Formats: sequence, structure tokens, C-alpha cells
Amino acid sequence: MDYQARCHCGLVRFSFRSPPITTGKRCNCSLCVRRGAVLSSTYIPAADFTPHADPNDLGAYLWNEHVLGNYFCKTCGIFTYIADGENARDGYRVNLGCVEGINPLALDIAIIDGSRSRSSTRTTPLTRKDNVHARHRVT
Ligand SMILES: [Zn+2]
Repeated sequence: MDYQARCHCGLVRFSFRSPPITTGKRCNCSLCVRRGAVLSSTYIPAADFTPHADPNDLGAYLWNEHVLGNYFCKTCGIFTYIADGENARDGYRVNLGCVEGINPLALDIAIIDGSRSRSSTRTTPLTRKDNVHARHRVT
């Protein structure tokens, strides 16, 4: 499906292609717990994602060893998406609240234990699929 999305004031727009979205994720890491957004369950591959055209409209909060670019509208402050890795090579995770035609609170929402994913004593590493920030050190 093709999805269109925008921030609250409408300045920032982005779009992406993905299988129909029926689930979302929330995460309890120190950033996500403050942000409170419902995130896409998977990363959208960069090839299927069209970010906002004008980078000047976006603020970026680089976090987690600077590998996660958390983008937000400079005007209304709404978090729009996370770009993962250098030049978003690992794709985008989306704030589902921005996506047209989706009611994020009506989705099946899984909670991700991101606050513990930095543990070096973990015996079974979380897979990327299971965790927002799985590859990265998160506090
Ligand atoms: Zn805005």
C-alpha cells in the first residue's frame, strides 16, 4: 500500500510503501517513553520511503551513538520519523500518528523493552524485528 503522512501543521510531508499496517509498537527506552508515539512495527526500507523534501523544515535529534536520527517538524514540533544508520541506509521507522488513514490507537500495539536492550548480559540478543533499537546501545 502507498501511505501518505504529515506532521500536525502540514509543513512536513512524507510517504512510503508497505504491506497494510495493522500493528504498531511502543517502546520504553528513555526517549520513546517521553515521546509516547506509536511506531511502525518494522523499518520501512529506504527504497520504499520518500522523506520530506526540504531538510530545512526538519529538526534532527541524533541519539543512541548518533545512529538514530529522530526527525521532527521545526514548526509544530511533531516527531515524524526515525532514520536509522548513515544516510538512512537501514530504513525508517515512522510515527504512525502522522499517517493518513491510520488510527494508531486502534492497532494491535506491542510494547518493546528498549530500556533493557543495551544489556551486555543478555543471552539471546533481541532481533531487529523485535526491537526498535535492537542493534544499538540504548539507555
Ligand atoms: Zn509541523
